[in-house]
Amino acid sequence: MTVTTVVDVVYASSTAVHQQLQNTPVQVLCPNCHAAIWTVVNYDIGMLTYVISVALCFIGCNLGCCLIPFCIDDCKDAIHTCPICNVEIGRWKRM
Ligand SMILES: [Zn+2]
Repeated sequence: MTVTTVVDVVYASSTAVHQQLQNTPVQVLCPNCHAAIWTVVNYDIGMLTYVISVALCFIGCNLGCCLIPFCIDDCKDAIHTCPICNVEIGRWKRM
């Protein structure tokens, strides 16, 4: 008989971890070094960043204001990496 339990640590290669990735660090088992780690979150320009930028242009913010989303982490995708081996574990896309 198999007992299924819910644990905080999941393998990073599973689809479950990609579903729980957001813009905050998560605890996973690194698929590369197999250590239980908290991911390091970095931010990268994503689709939402461009969409907000274009939207700002359309409403008249075209004197540099449309570049503001590129400076705001809340407008960017979150990239989760392992603090030990620096492997990219997953990417959380806002769009
Ligand atoms: Zn690692």
